[in-house]
Amino acid sequence: MQVSAARQRLIIPKGKNLIGAFHQPKLVVIDVDTLKTLPQRDIRAGLIEVIKMGVIRDEPLFERVEENLEAILNLDDTTLIEIISQACVNKAEIVAKDEKESGLRMVLNYGHTFGHALEAMTHYNRYRHGEAVSIGMHCAAQLATNLRMFSETDFQRQRALLKRAKLPITFPTDLIPRSVM
Ligand SMILES: [Zn+2]
Repeated sequence: MQVSAARQRLIIPKGKNLIGAFHQPKLVVIDVDTLKTLPQRDIRAGLIEVIKMGVIRDEPLFERVEENLEAILNLDDTTLIEIISQACVNKAEIVAKDEKESGLRMVLNYGHTFGHALEAMTHYNRYRHGEAVSIGMHCAAQLATNLRMFSETDFQRQRALLKRAKLPITFPTDLIPRSVM
């Protein structure tokens, strides 16, 4: 109940995460056992944030996910702790350098511009957040590749991992791409 109340406060008709205050946590607690209570769909969706971190600034982390995808999806403790803590180290480094999202921190939004739009367009009930971000990362990577800001090899590598993780990458055919804007 508390979660849905919190969600409602963050979501406005134009989308989510558009209003709010910056408030740094005093402590970050991660209990990988909690993941074992979730359906596979949520595990796969959650993994997108680790994959995203790999793409935006940590190639070895991306490689680790490529090499250990099965162990991750089978919720192997050691592998999970390793990749989740590495993703957190990256996030903490970014946030420490740019607390108020004035520049660097915007890299954390990779895939989220399209992703948040997709979530809003489908009224937050078709996709898990991570699934919408997966489609968003694919769209952003495609756009960046077209603009020659992302190499075709990296684009294909990201695409292959998202597909192996059974995350969606295709823009839904019943939505008009222009309405994302
Ligand atoms: Zn996210």
